[in-house]
Amino acid sequence: MTDLPSLRETLDAHGLSAKKSFGQHFLLDLNVTRKIVRLAGPFDGRAVIEVGPGPGGLTRALLESDAGPVVLVEKDPRFIPLLSELDDGSGRLSIVEADALKVREAELVQGPAHLVSNLPYNVGTALLIKWLTGPWTPCALTLMFQKEVAERVVAAPGDDAYGRLAVISQAVCAARIVMHLPAAAFTPPPKVASAVVHLVPLEQRPSPERLKRLERVTAAAFGQRRKMLRSSLKQLGGAALCEAAGIEPDARAETIDIAGFLRLADALSQ
Ligand code: SAM
Repeated sequence: MTDLPSLRETLDAHGLSAKKSFGQHFLLDLNVTRKIVRLAGPFDGRAVIEVGPGPGGLTRALLESDAGPVVLVEKDPRFIPLLSELDDGSGRLSIVEADALKVREAELVQGPAHLVSNLPYNVGTALLIKWLTGPWTPCALTLMFQKEVAERVVAAPGDDAYGRLAVISQAVCAARIVMHLPAAAFTPPPKVASAVVHLVPLEQRPSPERLKRLERVTAAAFGQRRKMLRSSLKQLGGAALCEAAGIEPDARAETIDIAGFLRLADALSQ
């Protein structure tokens, strides 16, 4: 990787610049991309799926790491020729031109795999929900979000950022922010700062049915977050549902922890 031209030179050589419609804000400093990959690993030879490789800064760091197969999923066709230049012909790198919202990850890799991405901000939350609630479970996810979204993923009860995303994320994974990056670290700089979240799926992951019920309960509870649960959950059983779950009906959604929401989801099935 050290013999390659810089990422900026590579972009210039291919006549490429960022497109807003694809949420493109590039990391052109390999010291930063190497640090993200260190935080994501070790991979111990397991596969890594990288969503949205763009000019390939994270890809280069992944190829220098202990990752096994590296599978890239990029929606913007302009980047495919540039990314192909990173292929040494060994079969380790695969490049898939596709919308990550539509791909089936289990078909991209054999066996366990990690997910690493500097996510396109416009679809970052939708992709996270897909990976948390979908049929495929990665070993771990290391994802760059805009800072506000990262805070919503890791928020605790009582935090302003605590809501549906925190409950769903933490019902499925242990999640923590491992790195902060200012807007100036990206080319072009976005309007907001960013943060990397590392998520590791829990051994006791809720079943798909339980997650669906959890989504229903959290949508209702946080849809009217200032109301008491007896009122915001009225359509789902109101005070009786709360009592069945051992939750105070006069409490508000923002004070209920993950275990409490899981009990509400379970009470919904009874
Ligand atoms: N990884 C590169 C970096 O760090 O410099 C680029 C990150 S940029 C924030 C997001 C990347 O995701 C872009 O390359 C963009 O084309 C790609 N992208 C946007 N929407 C996508 C989608 N739905 N599926 C796959 N890739 C997508």
